[in-house]
Amino acid sequence: AFTRALQGQQGPVAIHQAGEEPLQVPYARLREALGANQLEAWLQPILDVQHGGMVGAESLSRWNDPEIGRVPPDRFIPMAERTGLISELTWWSINTSLRHVAQARRVDPTLGIAINLSPRVFGEAGLVEHLASTAAVWDIPPGAVTLEVTETALMVDPDASERLLRRLCDAGFGVAFDDFGTGYSSLAYLKRFPATELKIDRAFIKDLPHAPRALPLVRAIIELGHQLGLVVVAEGVEDAETLDTLRQAGCDRAQGYFIQRPQPAAEFLRGLEPGARV
Ligand code: C2E
Ligand code: CA
Ligand code: CA
Ligand code: CA
Repeated sequence: AFTRALQGQQGPVAIHQAGEEPLQVPYARLREALGANQLEAWLQPILDVQHGGMVGAESLSRWNDPEIGRVPPDRFIPMAERTGLISELTWWSINTSLRHVAQARRVDPTLGIAINLSPRVFGEAGLVEHLASTAAVWDIPPGAVTLEVTETALMVDPDASERLLRRLCDAGFGVAFDDFGTGYSSLAYLKRFPATELKIDRAFIKDLPHAPRALPLVRAIIELGHQLGLVVVAEGVEDAETLDTLRQAGCDRAQGYFIQRPQPAAEFLRGLEPGARV
């Protein structure tokens, strides 16, 4: 269980670890960890539900501090956003994720990468140029790189968001609506913002085979996504039955513990070697 003890902008975050006193996670530690390159970008495979095989991975940041232990991204990302560190963290994540996928593409040149973008960097000068030039350095076509944005993020500054998404799409990058269906104006933003992918939130996938209204909802979201020309991805697939249900419902891609948990990049790369494929 995690408890927040925030004191103003750069307040520490208290973390309860099993059987221990709450630990303070100060902003300064995160800044140090970033500076010392102690964060890691873990990769969670994304499966092609209809044809089988991996299409790529989502990059998920991990912070394992030598003293305070693992701090989950749900804690340190918001802290980075409040303190302005998110800019540095995002550029680090872009560089690291692209480097990892470049290595993976030496084994399988079809693989892509999905990177989470915080709204705090939407207006950042040079973001799209940096993505384009870094991808070019690694010989990664922009189409193999997808930027994930949430509805909440888009609503912080809809005009800036629209400009960013337009520029990303014009440059050939993928754009995914992350956590789709959990916000309050999902349909309105589908109309307004350009994108290439829709990721159905885990809340709809969790008990898909059994919850009475989950299946018609998920079917409708898949149909809606397809009508708009979007690739539809389901997140949080935790069992075979859910994956089967999604396949029958026409879902394109899936991600979840049943397929594979997020793993360190080195482990992900090892899994690509001939004979190691699952
Ligand atoms: P998200 O973008 O929605 O990422 C999916 C989350 O679901 C990840 O949590 C992933 O580990 C988890 N997950 C995947 N499959 C399953 C499953 O089958 N069951 C369950 N219960 N969970 C599953 P994680 O890695 O803890 O990340 C949490 C959130 O932190 C992410 O949610 C994303 O919003 C944010 N985040 C992580 N890394 C970054 C980053 O580098 N930059 C930004 N801006 N946000 C990040
Ligand atoms: Ca995501
Ligand atoms: Ca998500
Ligand atoms: Ca989420």
